[in-house]
Amino acid sequence: MSNGLPQVVLVGRPNVGKSTLFNRLIHSNRAITHDRPGVTRDRLEGIVRRRNKPEYGVIDTGGVTLDERSVVQEGPEGIRGFEAEILQQVHTATAEAAVIAFVVDGKDGLLPTDTYLANHIRRLNVPVLCVVNKVDGAELADRMCSEFHALGFPLIAVSAEHGHNLNELAEELADMIPKEQFVEALTPPELRLAMLGRPNAGKSSLINALCGENRMIVSDVAGTTRDSVDVRFTVDGEDYVFVDTAGVRRKTRITDTVEKYSANSAIKSAGKADVTLLTLDAMEGVSAQDKRLMDMLNTRKIPFMILINKADLLPKKDLTEVVKRAKELLGFCGHVPILTVSAKSGFGLERILPMASLVRKECLVRVPTSQLNKAMQQALTAHQPPLVKGVRAKFFYLTQAESEPPTFVFFVSDAERVSPTYARYLESSLRRIFKIQHAPMRVKLRSSHTKKS
Ligand code: GDP
Repeated sequence: MSNGLPQVVLVGRPNVGKSTLFNRLIHSNRAITHDRPGVTRDRLEGIVRRRNKPEYGVIDTGGVTLDERSVVQEGPEGIRGFEAEILQQVHTATAEAAVIAFVVDGKDGLLPTDTYLANHIRRLNVPVLCVVNKVDGAELADRMCSEFHALGFPLIAVSAEHGHNLNELAEELADMIPKEQFVEALTPPELRLAMLGRPNAGKSSLINALCGENRMIVSDVAGTTRDSVDVRFTVDGEDYVFVDTAGVRRKTRITDTVEKYSANSAIKSAGKADVTLLTLDAMEGVSAQDKRLMDMLNTRKIPFMILINKADLLPKKDLTEVVKRAKELLGFCGHVPILTVSAKSGFGLERILPMASLVRKECLVRVPTSQLNKAMQQALTAHQPPLVKGVRAKFFYLTQAESEPPTFVFFVSDAERVSPTYARYLESSLRRIFKIQHAPMRVKLRSSHTKKS
């Protein structure tokens, strides 16, 4: 549940009209629909908004990665060709769905692939609505739906293309979502934090200082672990939790600052959190380990910030040097916040949690469709794409494929003709326009030969 809402997941074989339905449900033509199978498509997430009623999320698992040859025929071969993709869809659905909208094609009728897929879905213990699409007139509904009754799911006949019965569909799906899932969505979730850094950087001290009580015992003596794994606390009415704090205290051998911390377990903890805090010791500067961890967090697009702790021990001038050095090492990820703090004196501590919340908020940004192309035009006008081998890439449109982290896809005439420098310029423009200053972001370029109609 990336946007915190209960999710309806669209499942169905390729070409039944999932993308068109998705667009209709979110009242947008943002998703890219293709009228032929065999094209790769990103997973799409959107929000279904209804007047004065709670909203819910919708996911088109997409992921059609078959080539044309493997798609054409149905029957046993066809099923085998689909298998991997279908299982992937079902897998996603299990993990995230409050309700499954099982989409079938009323024109094609019931195909073996539908039955195969239905058998998998039935086992998931999630409410299922069978959506019979391409029923382009109410009078056709009975006849076109009849054979799908055999699947045993409740049915609704719609036409995504002609807009028949779509409000009914949105309402029906909402009614099938278990009520408590809406309630959960209304309470803001706690902010999950991971604390990483070398032994003795001051991680435990910082956690204690932020929690406002001695939740973790700090000592120079090895083995003072208190094995509460998650530490929960509330500041100014906001709920926070430090995950995996046992790892923070794991001072196995004789404690010394050169002890290596395992990058893998660090990354694992980071994966459980919304925002990761990497703590450095101002006296020690940035170690090779720290640098490696920064690179890993950066390439994995894990939201993180850097705390330079023990600021009380250094004169301002030296502290500035440490910050400068950290900035240099961060290279192209200049968006990562760097805060100088002191667990001991309390200096700078008040900025940590608000910054973490901001990073989280930015990770969840969803840009409305109307703003995407405006932003693209703005960026292109300010600096037109340079000629590459005598040709200038044409930019057709911009979509947001995902949030967490925000992922933007430019559809261009020839992605090869967009230089890395220009791609970076585009990223910084989007950051500025959409106010995503500190979160990680992905910008992708995709070759496309057509403008979106
Ligand atoms: P951890 O291994 O990263 O959890 O580090 P600890 O929190 O156990 O701290 C290691 C040592 O550094 C302890 O002796 C702390 O008292 C000390 N320490 C932690 N934060 C600060 C700070 O901001 N200033 C100073 N001067 N000492 C600190």
